[in-house]
Amino acid sequence: MRSPLDAQLDAALASAGLRRTAGTLALARVFGTTPDAVLSHAEIEHVLVRQGVEINRVTLYRLLERFVAAGLLRRTVDAQRVSRFSAANRESGVPRFECDDCHRHFRLTDDGGKLDAAARKVLQALEAAGHEGHSIDVAVHGRCAGCAGHGLRRERA
Ligand SMILES: [Zn+2]
Repeated sequence: MRSPLDAQLDAALASAGLRRTAGTLALARVFGTTPDAVLSHAEIEHVLVRQGVEINRVTLYRLLERFVAAGLLRRTVDAQRVSRFSAANRESGVPRFECDDCHRHFRLTDDGGKLDAAARKVLQALEAAGHEGHSIDVAVHGRCAGCAGHGLRRERA
């Protein structure tokens, strides 16, 4: 049975000029079902394998390039030069968070649109100064809850 999500994915693929193949659909579905995900090549491959989708690495790399070129995905490169991919249509004012210990990426959820409102204020301030801000990409570095907790336990032991 086709879900509304499938129809949405179809439309996104078509408007990006991508053929609807098992690979493109599976990849679109990874980000369609977890829109907040920020994933590396290896993590995406892992998700696909877990879903029983057989896709060779070269094909996946090529598909990711095409998704980025088509504006469906955004690519960011972290401090270790690892490319990460996320859905491009998310609010750009929501900060990304990278843990400096485990290098996992997190995306903060924007409860009540407060972060979005803050981002808009930044754009307004730019505009007031005569600049044209188009998008905001905020990256926060630190230690994730997992690593911070781990460190605490280690210190106590
Ligand atoms: Zn961490």
